[in-house]
Amino acid sequence: MARIVMKFGGTSMAGTERIRTVAKLVAREVAQGNEVAVVVSAMAGETDRLVGFCREANPRYDPAEYDVVVASGEQVTSGLLALTLQSLGVPARSWLGWQLPIRTEEAHSRARIIDIDTGALLAAMTKGEVAVIPGFQGMMDDGRISTLGRGGSDTSAVAIAAAVGADRCDIYTDVDGVYTTDPRIVARAQKLDYVTYEEMLELASVGAKVLQTRSVGLAMKTGVRIQVLSSFVEGDEAPKQGTMIVSDEEIEELQMERQLITGIAHDKNEAKIIVTRVPDKPGAVASIFGPLAAAGINVDMIIQNVGRDKGETDVTFTVPSADLLRSIDLLEGAKDKIGFNRILSDDKVAKISVVGVGMKSHAGVASTMFRALADRGINIQAISTSEIKVSVLIDQDEIELAVRVLHTAYGLDAA
Ligand code: ADP
Ligand code: ASP
Ligand code: MG
Repeated sequence: MARIVMKFGGTSMAGTERIRTVAKLVAREVAQGNEVAVVVSAMAGETDRLVGFCREANPRYDPAEYDVVVASGEQVTSGLLALTLQSLGVPARSWLGWQLPIRTEEAHSRARIIDIDTGALLAAMTKGEVAVIPGFQGMMDDGRISTLGRGGSDTSAVAIAAAVGADRCDIYTDVDGVYTTDPRIVARAQKLDYVTYEEMLELASVGAKVLQTRSVGLAMKTGVRIQVLSSFVEGDEAPKQGTMIVSDEEIEELQMERQLITGIAHDKNEAKIIVTRVPDKPGAVASIFGPLAAAGINVDMIIQNVGRDKGETDVTFTVPSADLLRSIDLLEGAKDKIGFNRILSDDKVAKISVVGVGMKSHAGVASTMFRALADRGINIQAISTSEIKVSVLIDQDEIELAVRVLHTAYGLDAA
């Protein structure tokens, strides 16, 4: 007997027919004598629809009420899955975020989980009842509903797996594992049997949306074993083995040969800002990024361009597209203090990143990237690197071509 957490994403929950397939996968685990908790997403497209309603109702919406609206998608699917399980003769009960409760910090629309009261969950699971939990939602200390940020059901699943001491956390989605790049863009992308927490964390953080970044960080910290696999099975067949997220030590034990590059990811949700003719003196850069940091805006790539003649320089950086207008307002507000000439911005950019632990010990990864992009006439607007990643900013229209070109350049295409 094992204790397992199963998570089903939006496409897996899109409609009663798909929910019946999910219920059969859950029933199969129950039949094997396992204790099961299930975390569900809203139906595919539903959260976007709800966000749209909030914008229509009030473009400057109150995040507390936004959470009330957007958390509702998961309430529907958790009830529907419990009903479907019951129809198959499997005892099941839904547990909403506030009923357990899943306590979060005070940060509407992007809350972090503080702790989960497992009393009711464990009581249900040990008596053989499936606990169905809506992902993405929690409750703040004041009793109000909070949500965990887009894609947050992955994090709900990992947090619940850690809290109940689950043996496995299986994340079911619409692809059968983690691939060398988004298989919807590159048909010759290859499925990875194993990927390390560190690599998955980096891939997720640069745009591989198959797992929410925070879920990977939490799994790494708490030692939760994640498998990414597909819920798209025919009839009563067993799901196929997906991708296991493992530690560095496990990879070494498996004596797997490490590829230089694990994967390529892209992100269209970044925007570029250029602050021109900033005084080239101590404190200038701090006066640009201080107000952005204070407003909780995440700055990513940064370049301080070559100084101009008169002790001036241009500073280029990226922010999430959703924060572009707010960032410009903040910078304009601090214009006298910073002393710049003007602000240029562009949200038709995209970031493409190559990730691989093998990079730590190999030179030439970045130059392969620059050469491959140059050969296709793709211009690089900004660059950033970390120990296991190289990212460049390019024109958004060229992103899919760039992903394909780099996938081939690093020898990742399937035969
Ligand atoms: P869910 O609704 O199940 O949470 P998501 O849409 O959030 O599913 O994530 C699954 C999608 O992630 C896939 O359909 C795929 O297009 C995309 N994706 C991006 N990068 C990768 C990758 N490296 N491997 C697998 N899928 C990826
Ligand atoms: N439904 C939420 C979203 O679309 C959370 C999730 O599915 O993970 O972002
Ligand atoms: Mg997702």
